[in-house]
Amino acid sequence: MNHSIPHSRPTLGQSEIQSISEVIASGQIAQGEMVERFEQAVAKQTGTKGAVAVSSGTAALHLTLIAMELGPGDEVIMPSYVCSALLNAAGYVRATPVLAEIEPKTFNIDPEDVKRRLSRKTKAIIVPHLFGLSADLDPIMALDVPIIEDCAQSMGSTYRGKMVGSFGHATIFSFYSTKVITTGEGGMVLSDSQDLLERIRDLREYDKKNRMSVHYNYKMTDIQAVMGLVQLDQLQVFIQKRRSIAQRYQKAFETLTAQLPPDDEGHIYYRYVIGLKDDAGPKIQALAKEGIQCARPVYVPLHRYLKMEGYKKTEAAWRHSLSIPIYPALSDGDVKRISEPVADAIMETNT
Ligand SMILES: *Cc1c(COP(=O)(O)O)cnc(C)c1O
Repeated sequence: MNHSIPHSRPTLGQSEIQSISEVIASGQIAQGEMVERFEQAVAKQTGTKGAVAVSSGTAALHLTLIAMELGPGDEVIMPSYVCSALLNAAGYVRATPVLAEIEPKTFNIDPEDVKRRLSRKTKAIIVPHLFGLSADLDPIMALDVPIIEDCAQSMGSTYRGKMVGSFGHATIFSFYSTKVITTGEGGMVLSDSQDLLERIRDLREYDKKNRMSVHYNYKMTDIQAVMGLVQLDQLQVFIQKRRSIAQRYQKAFETLTAQLPPDDEGHIYYRYVIGLKDDAGPKIQALAKEGIQCARPVYVPLHRYLKMEGYKKTEAAWRHSLSIPIYPALSDGDVKRISEPVADAIMETNT
């Protein structure tokens, strides 16, 4: 039998190995010049005035919520259909998460539902651009509540021709091993507000403070940052590769009855998510037997963790969504090997 194709995998090569070796040989391995260079490069790529690198996307969210002064009694709106990192970040500052529904076609937060859930206590809205496709930002920005853009899955993706991450009051990235670009683990906060960035920079580390107040140790290392720089250099190549794989999938599945990802020019196809008629669970198991690792793209929707009812669109998305492998490290042969059994799985759904 052929090798099993993982659902996701980082795309790494000799340049990462070479640059990391150089950093190690230099003896300067913790947070230093490379971290600063990586911050500046990501800020430039995204189109914000500055950035602060941290140890994960979750840490980025945590420090952003503190810097925006969210605490007990404050509400933060977020979609239910997203990873639990958001719920954890709200929990760290004891703010109340208010969960919103999604738009079934894009899987992104539904602006109308956000509007319905606004209250006097709403202090921020976290807007993830899920699976590499931008959320509908205009109507959310019109609500006049500070927005935190969650770009963990969407570096390089655009909304109305402009980079995601350049719209919100603050933006976070994750550089976990399977994200668009990676540093193993890592994250970043971006903003145009120097004041916000300064606060986050202060909170990120505990050493050499003149007054005692709670600080963290959320630093990124130069070993990680240099890898991030090398990865960032390849961002456009990565996105091109993702788009060309998505095109091949689109061709392979377009005559079948299934919901395919929106054909949006800003989409970077971090995930290729197919909406099936049936439950995706049995299909995921069947495909795994053929050596194709697929997944539900969101592990458990947040309203279930909170034991909340409703969220019909989120429930439907969770149940029917099949995420198939898509990443630059896939070969043409892999894409072919994935397309055929996936097409069969979609067809079986409809008979
Ligand atoms: C991965 C991810 C995060 C969390 O990032 P970590 O680096 O794993 O802490 C947050 N939001 C979204 C949408 C993600 O995909």
